[in-house]
Amino acid sequence: MSAYESDNIFAKILRGEIPATRVYEDEETLAFMDIMPRADGHLLVIPKTPCRNMLDATPAQLETVIRTVQKLAVASKAAFGADGVTIQQFNEAAGGQEVFHLHFHVLPRHEGQALRAPGQMADMEAIAAHAEKIKAAL
Ligand code: 5GP
Repeated sequence: MSAYESDNIFAKILRGEIPATRVYEDEETLAFMDIMPRADGHLLVIPKTPCRNMLDATPAQLETVIRTVQKLAVASKAAFGADGVTIQQFNEAAGGQEVFHLHFHVLPRHEGQALRAPGQMADMEAIAAHAEKIKAAL
């Protein structure tokens, strides 16, 4: 497996080099909105310390990230009046991973509503409004 590379897009977000719509952070983790949301409220949770994915993460990194995933899953379900929440996580290119800094997708889901196709940029004002709804529910 390749080594962690600090020029990945989420490392740049962590360093404040590129903007992101932040929803929640603590000492160990950050949650921010996905710019190509597959459902309203689609967000990502990452550790602030480097690791590529589940395959090289330490138990401590996983523990802190999954605690934040749960917090955001509960808040986003409430914020959107969702019926459920999908958590997705991909490892290495063959596993569907595109950005090589560990992240979990949190997707509020409504009964009978399919996820949107991947790769479609959303309106930034809509993303900001969705972030505010989740923050209010936290
Ligand atoms: P994965 O690596 O799990 O396949 O997907 C990476 C996710 O990061 C995708 O859902 C994609 O929409 C999202 N993404 C890619 N570039 C950016 C970015 O610059 N900002 C944000 N907020 N999300 C991004």
